[in-house]
Amino acid sequence: MPWISDATCNGCGTCVEECPVGVIEMQEDKARINMDGCIRCAVCHDVCPQDAIMHDSDKVPERIQANVERTTKNMEACARYLGKVEEKQKCLQRMIKHFVREKSIAEKTVAELQKLKT
Ligand code: SF4
Ligand code: SF4
Repeated sequence: MPWISDATCNGCGTCVEECPVGVIEMQEDKARINMDGCIRCAVCHDVCPQDAIMHDSDKVPERIQANVERTTKNMEACARYLGKVEEKQKCLQRMIKHFVREKSIAEKTVAELQKLKT
């Protein structure tokens, strides 16, 4: 999904006017995308004069870090709420399984989408 860099968006509003499904709005002089309605057409990316519309790939390191932080928080919480330090490692195993499952879902989804190619 596209996302908008606050550091470079100058609030010109061009993307708001050009988005074909009207899912970009201005908030405090910065453009914001309602991701639920975005159809990934890339029009906003093409019209932005500031190159402020970024791609998913720009956030990969951030997302990995967030996943690691979420896992370590869950590990601490499991140990605290369940009252046993060994719950940390059990929690870690569950989180690893969770991400392996997510990876499998993504790979199978890509395989299905490849079938739509003409
Ligand atoms: S077109 Fe670019 S600079 Fe203008 S409001 Fe949209 S994101 Fe910001
Ligand atoms: S990718 Fe298309 S639908 Fe999504 S926010 Fe940009 S212009 Fe709108």
